[in-house]
Amino acid sequence: MNVLVLNSGSSSLKFQVIATDLERIKQYQDDRICRGEVEDIGGEAIIRIQYRAEPSRTLTASLRDLPATLEYLVRYIASDQSGIHEIKSSTDIHAVGHRVVHGGEQFKESARIDDQVLKGIEDCIDLAPLHNPNNIKCITAAREIFGKDVPQVAVFDTAFHHTIPEQAYLYAVPYHLYRRHRVRRYGFHGTSHRYVAFRYRALRGLTRQQTNIITFHLGNGCSACAIKAGSSIDTSMGMTPLEGLVMGTRSGDLDPAIVGVIGRKEGMSASEVETLLNTQSGLLGVSGLTNDMRELQAELKEHDDRRVRLAIEIFCYRAKKYIGAFLAAMNGADAIVFTGGIGENSPDVRARICQGMEWAGLRLDAAKNQELIGREGLISTADSKLLAYAIPTDEELLIARDTVRVIEGVPHPS
Ligand code: AMP
Repeated sequence: MNVLVLNSGSSSLKFQVIATDLERIKQYQDDRICRGEVEDIGGEAIIRIQYRAEPSRTLTASLRDLPATLEYLVRYIASDQSGIHEIKSSTDIHAVGHRVVHGGEQFKESARIDDQVLKGIEDCIDLAPLHNPNNIKCITAAREIFGKDVPQVAVFDTAFHHTIPEQAYLYAVPYHLYRRHRVRRYGFHGTSHRYVAFRYRALRGLTRQQTNIITFHLGNGCSACAIKAGSSIDTSMGMTPLEGLVMGTRSGDLDPAIVGVIGRKEGMSASEVETLLNTQSGLLGVSGLTNDMRELQAELKEHDDRRVRLAIEIFCYRAKKYIGAFLAAMNGADAIVFTGGIGENSPDVRARICQGMEWAGLRLDAAKNQELIGREGLISTADSKLLAYAIPTDEELLIARDTVRVIEGVPHPS
């Protein structure tokens, strides 16, 4: 089954076509046909597309919105010009899997999209006003292009966290705010945390029940997840992705009274402060330079800039605090796992986060840590009581697999 996986942002669309089915899932033989990304939708869009291991191609086209982008993409992939000979027409796409950011309390697992599910995703717009509308646009556009008979499946960023208990998901605010407005922790990056947990137990030959780990998704967005007996029992992101770790442009945890202080002192409304905390803070805000960790590390090496150093130090210190918090929440763990652009590729950040954790039984292997960049494996010493792994995430693969499982009526295993 050729599954088109779509991950839509406000002005971007990431996509992959993955050939998979129940047999291939069992044998780990999923076949990635092509992948790519469209940026600057709404103007002169840039389309990057890679067919198997061939060099990536870059195209440009004037694409006014997400539906026009999807139509363009499908037409291009199916054309002779693309050279993708597995896809000769849109009928060679057999199913579509969507990353949907917010599933609220309703969606506890991936769901085949019908009118009712679409209505459920619409009901969550309040909780993710910047994300869910784009997902809906993408779903309706795919329906137009492929017709109602091509199954579509929604895979929710929040679903993996539905096992978090009340004491961890409720905020200590008047309870009626939860009843009236569903004010609570939902958590995000669920597909990524779930995927690396699955890879961790595959690497160690463990069962889901034996999976007791703390996972760190460190990318432009960052979150940590406490996974006990295979289930998420706590996570650092909250009702929105703003809470928790320091991120590229988001502040992460702060004293909520600061919102009022900044508002009064700077003459800003609450929603303007919220935007500042989401888009002008984090690594960018502290360094005053960039939200990009790779650039910050290069800058630190070259100029030893004080604010750049501070940005990196704050980022790592705050991540380290979550190891302590989640070790306590879980009554101990067996391993920590790093993923995401920074977690997969930056030995320096991993070393800073793990520094001084020997008291908890965590001993990083400096050589292995340096070596493992963009590849999966152990980065602690083998006799470390608390192991550490780097595991590249693959949300698209999990979305394709869930799409197949949902269509075939097989419950997903984690
Ligand atoms: P993501 O959102 O998962 O794509 O991650 C993006 C982040 O990963 C950016 O801050 C990048 O600078 C960072 N990143 C990617 N490669 C490296 C690297 N080799 N060293 C440090 N950071 C990196």
